[in-house]
Amino acid sequence: MTTINIDNCMERMPVLFVGHGSPMYAIEENEFVQTWRDMGDTLPIPKAIICISAHWETRGTQVTAMQQPQTIHDFGGFPRELYEINYPAPGNPELAKEAINLIKSSPVTPNEKWGLDHGAWSVIRRIYPKADIPVIQLSMDYNKSPKEHYELAKELVSLRDKGVLIIGSGNIVHNLRQVAWDKPDDQEYGYDWTIEANETVKKLIIEGKHNELINYKSLGKAVQMAAPSADHYLPLLYALALKKEDEEVSFFNDKAVMGSLTMTSIKIG
Ligand code: ZN
Repeated sequence: MTTINIDNCMERMPVLFVGHGSPMYAIEENEFVQTWRDMGDTLPIPKAIICISAHWETRGTQVTAMQQPQTIHDFGGFPRELYEINYPAPGNPELAKEAINLIKSSPVTPNEKWGLDHGAWSVIRRIYPKADIPVIQLSMDYNKSPKEHYELAKELVSLRDKGVLIIGSGNIVHNLRQVAWDKPDDQEYGYDWTIEANETVKKLIIEGKHNELINYKSLGKAVQMAAPSADHYLPLLYALALKKEDEEVSFFNDKAVMGSLTMTSIKIG
């Protein structure tokens, strides 16, 4: 079992927000997947990963604490091949305990049942295909406001200096009701409001205007259309909360697909 050596002062790990898109990206080849794969060669090697996925919302905040998380196939109607994927990265109960201790603003419960949902494994298996880096997930409490999610995320910042890679996994623009199912999902295609919302959010990220991004429901019609529910947007706030003043933000996979989704992702640090 890999544990976190708290006395070891390491290089600060970057923080990622990854637009994960369709579950099919776990098995398909496209430019987004290629970028994830390339990141595995360029990112510093983390001791462990904490993922905040759009696909794990709970009552109260929970953190996976099992030795060996299961691969969860939390989707329906996809080819059998996708259900056969197993991503056997170990868990890290020690890190789960450390996260519980660090988060003072709310009680955090250890969870032995969840595992890795596709928001986590569809991306992480491309970055770290050997599954040799422990992964834990932190859930998002349904009852918290965007501001409360942002503040909770800040409490994890010291883990960045201990070799922990924190990944928010969602989509900045994610409106499934509006998806253009007739458009191939690997070709760039976004509605006007999709492009507008994506650009608005990017501009505020560049300007460091986190309060505006927390109050995203007040950013106008395009952003409201982009995030009709909070689940895929909130992981972005977790990533932004972990940014230090002096750090750069860079964008990758900055494209719209199927009309109402964007793959736009950020790397902090
Ligand atoms: Zn999703």
